[in-house]
Amino acid sequence: MNYVIDPAPVISLAVAGITERFPVNRIFCVGRNYAAHAREMGKDPDREAPFFFMKPANAAVDASSPVSIPYPPKTSNFHHEIELVVAICKGGKNIALDDALGHVYGYGTGLDMTRRDLQFEARDKGRPWEFGKSFSRSAPIGALSRVADSGHIARGAIRVTVNGEARQSSSIARLIWSVSECISYLSEYETLEPGDVIMTGTPEGVNAVVAGDVMHGYIDGLAGITVTVQA
Ligand code: MN
Repeated sequence: MNYVIDPAPVISLAVAGITERFPVNRIFCVGRNYAAHAREMGKDPDREAPFFFMKPANAAVDASSPVSIPYPPKTSNFHHEIELVVAICKGGKNIALDDALGHVYGYGTGLDMTRRDLQFEARDKGRPWEFGKSFSRSAPIGALSRVADSGHIARGAIRVTVNGEARQSSSIARLIWSVSECISYLSEYETLEPGDVIMTGTPEGVNAVVAGDVMHGYIDGLAGITVTVQA
């Protein structure tokens, strides 16, 4: 195959314990999947149907070792959102709840970095969230743990510190929509493909970072991440 320009490089994530990498196809993100975070965003946390937005594949940053991300332009309110990340290895549509976990390759610790001022401006004007959410290098993700190694992640601590100070701290068990439910629901609207990634939403305590800040993300049973914000 000849292309008229060079094709974009494959974006990939490290996998703990092996040298082969996980190629990232699409990144789906769940909104407001912890009740206390929905409240801090000024929304009712009642269990309405989940909703999704997307990030481009080049949002993903391999954070299997300490990594830096740029402070993005056009914001003065750049927020961390610590999230459980699900890597899909088997596609499908209308996936039954009981079959959903069979589509999971592994799990990772991730950050859904957000230009909160741009997200809120878009939200309040009824516009798409892209400028707030869907920018390059906005999703640092640690080494994926294979299901074969770590099992499925359904409980345990999730937290992020900034410069050693506690920020977000919660439990995976507080997900409003479980990993199975997110996969099954999403697959009714879009046929999932191998390489798709789902970021499952963030707990309360989102807050701003500035240049020079160092974030440590942690989820029980998974590799942690260390992410520095560049000037
Ligand atoms: Mn998020």
